[in-house]
Amino acid sequence: MILKLIILAVAGYYIYKFFGGKLPSIGKSPEEKKLDEDTLVECEKCGTYVTLKECIIIQGKYYCDECAKK
Ligand SMILES: [Zn+2]
Repeated sequence: MILKLIILAVAGYYIYKFFGGKLPSIGKSPEEKKLDEDTLVECEKCGTYVTLKECIIIQGKYYCDECAKK
């Protein structure tokens, strides 16, 4: 009886972990909170630092206004 409960608990834990790892809201939210619009990011192309407010994100990479136009 106790063994059954332990197996259930372990199985439940792994199911929880499996879904927990897949849900982006658990792992990503603290990181996203840190990035406010005044955070400086480096342009992928020219290395200029631009604020998140001003940068352009293309395929997950940051570009300054100039490089994004090209
Ligand atoms: Zn640039």
